[in-house]
Amino acid sequence: MFVTLPWIRLNPQPGNELGKTMKPQLRVLIVEDEPAIAELIAVNLQHGGFVAVIAGDSVSAQRELDATLPDVILLDWMLPGQSGLSLARHLRKQPRTKSIPILMLTARGDEPDKVAGLDAGADDYVTKPFSTQELLARIRAVLRRRAPESATDSVTVGGLVLDAGTHRIAFHGQELKFGPTEFKLLHFLMKHAERVHSRGTLLDKVWGDHVFIEERTVDVHVKRLRESLGAAGLMVETVRGTGYRLTAMSSPSASQPET
Ligand code: CA
Repeated sequence: MFVTLPWIRLNPQPGNELGKTMKPQLRVLIVEDEPAIAELIAVNLQHGGFVAVIAGDSVSAQRELDATLPDVILLDWMLPGQSGLSLARHLRKQPRTKSIPILMLTARGDEPDKVAGLDAGADDYVTKPFSTQELLARIRAVLRRRAPESATDSVTVGGLVLDAGTHRIAFHGQELKFGPTEFKLLHFLMKHAERVHSRGTLLDKVWGDHVFIEERTVDVHVKRLRESLGAAGLMVETVRGTGYRLTAMSSPSASQPET
């Protein structure tokens, strides 16, 4: 099959200057069944200073993950055998892989796909065709998001306690589980409780580099955050036309949930 790829510029010069002054290189696993696309992404990542590893399907991706954990996974939606979506769900359930950032690669304009990808546990999605610069910016953004909080503080709002040091969250003493983005989002909302934050502010403070992230991404993560919070999900209020607020006023008590 002949594939034209106007969306990635192949720069085949070996031995670029980046290769010499290296900090430990970050590893990106590319799960993509079209070899031409996978190789072009790999070459561009290598020129951006990353180590790129290619897997053509979910089975070889799993084999690669068993051997060496990457820092980021680029996961194509349409794969032979197990789909990228199903693999994302699986990786999120495994303790070993659950906190590795996943960027889903989706076809242009496939909006339901994007939301399903985020729901399945992807941190972000990239729509084909994409530029190398956009891809690298998004990879750096998810890496920044994943970077551990230097703060080891603990913050309490209503019945909710978040310990940034141990990465634990409890509601009335009962521990709750969160994905990495939800944890960071909740941490920010708790540190700045009772105030309304716009989607733009949240993208700035939680996502960091948000040039390529749509505001809708915030809504999807807030939905996931509420689900993870269970009864305490009521504390995350939507302020119509403005944004979101975490408030102790809506904190249900341990014994009698609010009606
Ligand atoms: Ca594919």
